[in-house]
Amino acid sequence: MSDDRRYLPSDELLEKIFFYMQQLFSEKELSGTLFLLTELGRTLVNSDRASFWFHDSRTNTLWTMAATGVGRISVPDDTGLIGASVTNNEILIVNNPYNDPRFNPAVDRETGYVTKSILTMPVTDSDGEVIGAFQAVNKITLDGQDDDFNEHDVKRLSLASAFCGRSLESFLLYNESVEDPLTGLKNRRGFFSHFEKHIVPVIGSVPTAMIICDIDHFKNVNDTYGHNAGDAVLRRVARLFSSRAGENDGVFRWGGEEFMFLLPGKTLPEAVAFAEEVRKAVEADECVYMDPFKGELRLRITMSFGVCIIDPTLGIDENVKIADDRLYYAKDHGRNMVQGEIQ
Ligand code: GH3
Ligand code: MG
Ligand code: MG
Repeated sequence: MSDDRRYLPSDELLEKIFFYMQQLFSEKELSGTLFLLTELGRTLVNSDRASFWFHDSRTNTLWTMAATGVGRISVPDDTGLIGASVTNNEILIVNNPYNDPRFNPAVDRETGYVTKSILTMPVTDSDGEVIGAFQAVNKITLDGQDDDFNEHDVKRLSLASAFCGRSLESFLLYNESVEDPLTGLKNRRGFFSHFEKHIVPVIGSVPTAMIICDIDHFKNVNDTYGHNAGDAVLRRVARLFSSRAGENDGVFRWGGEEFMFLLPGKTLPEAVAFAEEVRKAVEADECVYMDPFKGELRLRITMSFGVCIIDPTLGIDENVKIADDRLYYAKDHGRNMVQGEIQ
């Protein structure tokens, strides 16, 4: 088939590339960036659908943003053609996927969609490491006929893929800079960016509670059982906190053995009740730690909590100071308690 039926005329295509580039430069959100890059890829090869999949080598999963930008779809990285493309760092063109044992027809069965052709292309960072893959599905001609992918499409998609690599790399680097590697929670820097992005826009209309909490006599855990046992306790606390937080809540490692919650929509009594539940859960919990010399240790801790409602007329540091003063009041008055107000 001649190429003029397979692709948009070059001036029209150039116009589209400029359009997407312009949008990409002003887009700050990952979901928006991915959407634009995916649309760019789809336009370049003229396919019916396109998606971008991230590779998470820690959990051996591939994940993508849902089309709406809310929520994620996650699959094991040994799944389907996209998995094969990522694990072998290989471009795959499969024009009759139902005959390919690597193709996973489960999604088609569920949705009724019929996949006729697939092009997958690994996306790498500047060190050549695979960070994800692009997938274009069902090549069509300009007049809407089914067609096959070929080497021309590979060349075209590599343009989108290169842009994708750079955009994602900067996103991942940013993510690393806001994440605490020990617990996987957002760190203090992550707290400030979360606050700017999610709390500041609603602060006038939605009350937001802030809880700062600190492990009681944590130094004793380190001194008695060693630093590794202390680390295990911190990870355990982080998991417990994450499991208690709602979808719109934020949980952060504020520093050392101090943590922070941001709870939009909670009044002071509600936030105090929430902190009290968390306090009890921590007190009742046991961290099982396998010490190489002492064998299995069962570590128990308690925590103290300071709670406040963010005052929109004050700066963030002043609000933190209010919660912090309450935490220290709790420390001074016996620990293992929640302080919501100081008379
Ligand atoms: P308090 O009840 O007054 O909060 O007493 P505390 O012992 O918890 O407080 P202190 O500030 O005296 O000690 C905090 C300890 O937390 C000291 C520090 O070594 C330990 N710590 C901070 N970060 C980490 C970490 O990442 N891992 C481990 N294992 N310990 C940490
Ligand atoms: Mg402490
Ligand atoms: Mg402390």
